[in-house]
Amino acid sequence: EPKLSKEQQEEIVRRSKAYEKDDISELRKHSRRAYLDKRKEKKLLEIEDEIRDHDYIFEGVKLTEAEERELRYKKKIYELAKKHLEEDSTDEYKMPDAYDVDGVINQEKRFSVAKQRYRDPEAVEKMNPFAEQEAWEEHQIGKATLTFGSKNRKKAAEDYDYVFEDQIDFVKVSVMDGIDEEPNEAEEAKTISKGLQEERKTLPIYPYRDELLQAVKDHQVIIIVGETGSGKTTQIPQYLHEAGYTKQGMVACTQPRRVAAMSVAARVSQEMGVKLGHEVGYSIRFEDCTSEKTLIKYMTDGMLLREFLGEPDLASYSVVMVDEAHERTLSTDILFGLVKDIARFRKDLKLLISSATLDAEKFSDYFDSAPIFKIPGRRFPVEIHYTKAPEADYIDAAIVTVLQIHVTQSPGDILVFLTGQEEIETVDEILKHRTRGLGTKIAELIICPIYANLPTELQAKIFEPTPEGARKVVLATNIAETSLTIDGIKYVVDPGFCKIKSYNPRTGMESLLINPISKASANQRAGRSGRTGPGKCFRLYTAYNYYNDLEDNTVPEIQRTNLANVVLTLKSLGIHDLVNFDFMDPPPSEALLRALEQLFALNALNVKGELTKTGRRMAEFPLDPMLSKMIVASEKYKCSDEIISIASMLSVGNSIFYRPKDKQVHADNARMNFNTGNVGDHIALLNVYNSWKETDFSTQWCYENYIQVRSMKRARDIRDQLEGLLERVEIEISTNLNDLDTIKKAITSGFFHHAAKLQKNGSYRTLKNPQTVYIHPSSGLAQLNKNKIDQDLQRLLILLFCYAAQVHPRWVVYHELVLTTKEYMRQVTELKPDWLVEIAPHYYQLKD
Ligand code: ADP
Ligand code: MG
Repeated sequence: EPKLSKEQQEEIVRRSKAYEKDDISELRKHSRRAYLDKRKEKKLLEIEDEIRDHDYIFEGVKLTEAEERELRYKKKIYELAKKHLEEDSTDEYKMPDAYDVDGVINQEKRFSVAKQRYRDPEAVEKMNPFAEQEAWEEHQIGKATLTFGSKNRKKAAEDYDYVFEDQIDFVKVSVMDGIDEEPNEAEEAKTISKGLQEERKTLPIYPYRDELLQAVKDHQVIIIVGETGSGKTTQIPQYLHEAGYTKQGMVACTQPRRVAAMSVAARVSQEMGVKLGHEVGYSIRFEDCTSEKTLIKYMTDGMLLREFLGEPDLASYSVVMVDEAHERTLSTDILFGLVKDIARFRKDLKLLISSATLDAEKFSDYFDSAPIFKIPGRRFPVEIHYTKAPEADYIDAAIVTVLQIHVTQSPGDILVFLTGQEEIETVDEILKHRTRGLGTKIAELIICPIYANLPTELQAKIFEPTPEGARKVVLATNIAETSLTIDGIKYVVDPGFCKIKSYNPRTGMESLLINPISKASANQRAGRSGRTGPGKCFRLYTAYNYYNDLEDNTVPEIQRTNLANVVLTLKSLGIHDLVNFDFMDPPPSEALLRALEQLFALNALNVKGELTKTGRRMAEFPLDPMLSKMIVASEKYKCSDEIISIASMLSVGNSIFYRPKDKQVHADNARMNFNTGNVGDHIALLNVYNSWKETDFSTQWCYENYIQVRSMKRARDIRDQLEGLLERVEIEISTNLNDLDTIKKAITSGFFHHAAKLQKNGSYRTLKNPQTVYIHPSSGLAQLNKNKIDQDLQRLLILLFCYAAQVHPRWVVYHELVLTTKEYMRQVTELKPDWLVEIAPHYYQLKD
């Protein structure tokens, strides 16, 4: 009889309660195995539902032949998925699958994966889709000499049974070569704090300082390649400053991410011993931390792009360093074309294109054979471990792996790559939960999250040295791949996913999806463990997945995004011939056409494709064209005051309301108060803002109403700036709160593309490019679904179309679509169909 401590007994009670209550997120905290079982059970039910739904959703709806084929196909896939789930007793998981934030399999994504994989559904039924993979893995396992954790496993199993109710088997498959073999003692000593100036001299880039400056002097454009952490971002701008380049203008250094720009600027201001915002500053959207004094300016690539609008020759800069160029963000790609162009007539402007991994030749070719400057990095060998078998849930696998490393591996910090804030928060919470109560049985585990919305004070925590005897685990987004260097990382846990924006030019729909990373990313991630000594990388996928399922490189953003914003910016810079713009990799012409079409519909371009007055005004706002159109249209409806509040609240993202687990009902009620009279989500957001303002921006009020203060403050900042921009485009501030319809009309002026009509079963169909969508459960208009009425009763209600029509508005306009288990509309407001014809007659015609 094993003896359980009181804590363990309590834990088991909590676990079984969660299981009974079907509380999946609670269950996940207690038991991985039980959680996976439960999830599977739920998934089966979901799939059965989908199959059933399909039968009656489209009953009586007239479909085109293609749509019908698609539906039949979809149903077939669901049936296949169901069969697969029922048959498969082991973990069901394949690399290219995607999950939504709750860890539920993303049906749509699954569907498309299945579509690729099961191109011939009948053949699939006959074959074992894993046969090839299994054989390959067997072979690799046989070859491998070392199985992670095998030595300590027995002991670990005894001591930590309770932590590890099941463990993950890893297999070492390869070693990434390093340049150094053994840690250099001088390097290690560095961490025992010398002065910052001394520390600068220990960076790999330092010996190349003079050579680099000479190269900058001799050439106008240079491509710089150097391992992450070699000092490119923090040192090069300082070298240039020391060499006097800041006398003729600022040194700009662009970063694809906000956090990186802020964090690096903070570091450099420290190294230079100046106040952040003075000589060294940063500029990100809606936040300008620079001054008259600023000489070195870190900024997002998007901000530099916007600066072209006010200063087409970038006269205030003497050097532009486009950093992290390998990321190939949309803005970076456009910057390439623009800076290349101005470099032709501004011979005094120096251009540096830098990155950790770069297809340097390609960049050099693009910049008219610019010389390539390589900075040899420092890196130690990294062992690459893969899971023996596919893992069903990468979040849980990551948690188990962290704990496994913590109790079986020698000292050294851990870096875990996750896809976003929600995931990081989940892992943070579960790790805390699972290590709590273990007391002195295991060493202290210090958990440090890092993501864009994390308050700056907390961000600094990841750079603090780990105390003796403890271990740090950094939970980071892609930002830690190349943009930020964290010293002391010895273990990397790589689930193999990241969030990627994808755009379907056919439907004009854009969505942020969790996708498998590329091989290049995987290797960058692994490299993060070998910076201060030999490291280990644990990939939560199989070696087979790595070699067969991952793409070599990520597709540049320009080829998978909505280009409306960029086209508007380029047009306002006077660049009309977009087809012949000097793109490094041109976007698909269909996407360009779509963007032009959308801008034309928004009245930003005229029939000749020239910028209209409306378009010129829209370009002033650093927002998506639909949002800027909404603001410009508010002039006509005399409600600019309300509209900029709404725009700011929308720009903050979905972090306004929060629902603590134990107070969800309270939080939902508080939230419903802002939607009195079913005014819709946009007006509800406005009500939140106005109520907060009435309390004189009270923090207490936010607590009482389950609203996040930090998000509200950000909304207020954004609003202040939008107000300034209104003045610039000469739109008066006017308010029209008494007539909500005018506000809704202004919203519709920007978002008429996003109109949808109610269907018989309570779902919606988008008007152009018909697609079935649903109101997001968090919407005020979806309250019926959330009222926790008995599920069957709910079904019955939905079936009764008349009733459903009463509850759900017939026509709606939405802010965005999010794809989780279904395609959901987020931020929804009721609309009158004649507004569409009134506002966008060229886009919608009267039919009946
Ligand atoms: P690269 O751009 O070549 O990847 P960086 O210039 O970002 O390299 O980093 C060089 C070194 O500066 C890192 O190894 C790290 O030790 C240190 N560093 C960078 N940013 C910070 C920070 N915010 N806090 C503490 N140290 C930092
Ligand atoms: Mg860098």
